[in-house]
Amino acid sequence: MKVLKFGGTSVGSVENMNAVMQLIADGEKKLVVLSAMSGTTNALVEIADYLYKKNKDAAFTQIANLERKYETVVKSLYKSPTHKKEGSKAVKTAFTTIKSFTSGEFNEIGEKTILAQGELISTALFTQVMKENGFNTKLLPALDFMRIDSDKAADMQAIRPLIKESLAEAGEADYYITQGFICRNAEGEIDNLQRGGSDYTASLIGAAIDSKEVQIWTDIDGFHNNDPRFVQNTKKIEQLSFNEAAELAYFGAKILHPQTVLPAKLQNIPVRLKNTMNPSDSGTLITHDASGIGIKAVAAKDGITAIKVRSYRMLMAYGFMKNLFEIFEFFKTPIDMVSTSEVAVSITIDNTTKLDDIVRELKEYGEVEVDENQTIVCVVGDLIADEQGFAAKVFNAMEGIPIRMISYGGSRHNISVLVSTKDKQATLQALSDHLLA
Ligand code: ASP
Ligand code: MG
Repeated sequence: MKVLKFGGTSVGSVENMNAVMQLIADGEKKLVVLSAMSGTTNALVEIADYLYKKNKDAAFTQIANLERKYETVVKSLYKSPTHKKEGSKAVKTAFTTIKSFTSGEFNEIGEKTILAQGELISTALFTQVMKENGFNTKLLPALDFMRIDSDKAADMQAIRPLIKESLAEAGEADYYITQGFICRNAEGEIDNLQRGGSDYTASLIGAAIDSKEVQIWTDIDGFHNNDPRFVQNTKKIEQLSFNEAAELAYFGAKILHPQTVLPAKLQNIPVRLKNTMNPSDSGTLITHDASGIGIKAVAAKDGITAIKVRSYRMLMAYGFMKNLFEIFEFFKTPIDMVSTSEVAVSITIDNTTKLDDIVRELKEYGEVEVDENQTIVCVVGDLIADEQGFAAKVFNAMEGIPIRMISYGGSRHNISVLVSTKDKQATLQALSDHLLA
């Protein structure tokens, strides 16, 4: 059975939901993962923020606006009163849940439960549309089988048997619909796989049921060889290896949630990126096989902060790196790039919530310098080190653009350079002109 995931835009309007129905209802049995309708999760995040800040008026206004939007959707989504009623009921239930958190002390359980309502509504509404149109469709509650462990990592050991149980319980159907993004944590509470996590849901499910293929449907034809928002004439990439796709997704190609690739790679399940607005396009296929050596794509990740630490004890001090890395680990802050000299280390992070604490602790070991507004530009492909001088090509292309850090050799699939965000556009264009033309 294939697993197909449709993002927020794909189910973002009555029209689009109907289009998704046409797309999937080809008689082939499948499992469909849906995001919340576009804009919904952002609105729910805002509601939770207002509740944390005890700004109840603003929360109520936002809740009312969102509820009105869904009432309008329900009005035009169905023809028959019976299905309209079912749709209304799902919306009511979700908003009753949301409103139940507007009194009393607001906490993380309230926040996560509110955030889950977007996917709960979109899947309930969509399942009704399928049923109204006569398709044998069952709704699988993701909260019954999607699990994360106490480290917030996907708990495949739990997911695998649970989803099988869920499918068996639901019984025979042509189309199974489930929620992306949401899950339960080790305490059994409602939780989620982080923003954009519906892609990850799809690949976890794909791996859990040994799916033939996982398809991620969005509003672009697939991975492009450069960022179409900043560079003109980008081209779609037909095929990528899991490793290349993982690097691209992680380093800024917004089309795929970065964690998505791993479960599929481990089970060797092909992942295909497809465009809801242009379904006949083959999209980008991601498998174990790369499609040849060389540079395939460039991606950029903004919002990077570089931290340089110059050791007080200077040369030959062993344990210096370990001490530094432990600080990042203690503050649960992932590191992206690292470059070192004999006496100094530069490290980049994108999560700066603990920056002040990190800097305070780092100062015990050396002088600390922080540069914000940096961008990692990442060149991806099958870049075998001793062939064809890939690094030289990248540096030649970037002549005249100040490079703050370089990382090469960490994997054969990636050369990363750190530049100031103001130089990002020029960097992407230069790489496009010299490497991808
Ligand atoms: N609805 C969630 C979000 O907007 C999950 C997703 O769309 O993948 O982040
Ligand atoms: Mg989304």
